[in-house]
Amino acid sequence: MSAEILNGKILAQNLRMKMKEEINALKGEGIVPHLTVVLIGDDPASKSYVNGKKKASSEIGMESDVILLPESTSEKELLDLIDKLNHDEQVHGILVQLPLPEHIAEQKVIEAISPAKDVDGFHPVNIGRMMTGKNAFLSCTPLGIITMLKENNIEITGKHAVVIGRSNIVGKPVGQLLLNENATVTYCHSRTRDLKHFTKQADILVVAVGKPHAIGSEFVKEGAVVIDVGINRTPDGKLTGDVDFENVKEKASFITPVPRGVGPMTIAMLLKNTIQAAKQIKGSTWKN
Ligand code: NDP
Repeated sequence: MSAEILNGKILAQNLRMKMKEEINALKGEGIVPHLTVVLIGDDPASKSYVNGKKKASSEIGMESDVILLPESTSEKELLDLIDKLNHDEQVHGILVQLPLPEHIAEQKVIEAISPAKDVDGFHPVNIGRMMTGKNAFLSCTPLGIITMLKENNIEITGKHAVVIGRSNIVGKPVGQLLLNENATVTYCHSRTRDLKHFTKQADILVVAVGKPHAIGSEFVKEGAVVIDVGINRTPDGKLTGDVDFENVKEKASFITPVPRGVGPMTIAMLLKNTIQAAKQIKGSTWKN
């Protein structure tokens, strides 16, 4: 039996429509959610991500601007800009597109962004709040994955979730969110011995490895839910995931495609976080 395809593009569109209505209502109260994206250098992939974020935000009536800085921008110049944006009452969300040039310390930049405007959910305050199960800005890709599971009524409680990958932006937080949702979580990574032994036990398998088609059907249990986070470019310029979609879909119960899977959900969650930031600045801070 072939798996049900979890179409992130359609789900993200539906969520954006609801957000558009929410923004209209906020405008009635004099609040226009505003996202500022900072991009340094001219890496084509980063440019395309930033353009996607800007387009998605303007489509739902959100204010957005992109600050383009040259590759030669110093760390101090960037930190000064972040400080200015932190104090700018018009700006609700700040996103500095990663990766940064080597001469700028990424962690310093992440920690300079006010946790109240950290719509990427990378600040240690937000990560700590997430770890302790408090309300927080959750990083967008992991939040997109959880939203996708919930919106498709896929049970998480009590399930064995296996996450392949332990990066700070995907693997670690998605595992933590699955744990917060009462899954039993196993993390695997490049030093895991006998990867298959673990992945074959997964009711929910999240793959965030960054290697095209690294996970074939031999790694997957019959009926598993397979979430492919990978975005890899093939030699002919097409996007492909970390999962061998064609074979794995014959074994899984649900599977995300690439493209049109997790990717569109990531951007939708950025918009959601920015709306939340705008509401909080109005005065309704995290309740717990
Ligand atoms: P990283 O390169 O930071 O992390 C990759 C992880 O995979 C590491 O933890 C690494 O282990 C592990 N790994 C690598 N090779 C193997 C292997 N053979 N077996 C088991 N584990 C392995 O990548 P990211 O987490 O940033 O991204 C992962 C993928 O997701 C990429 O394709 C990226 O483009 C994509 N992505 C997609 C997004 C979306 O919106 N859809 C958003 C962000 C990323 P170790 O720690 O030991 O090195």
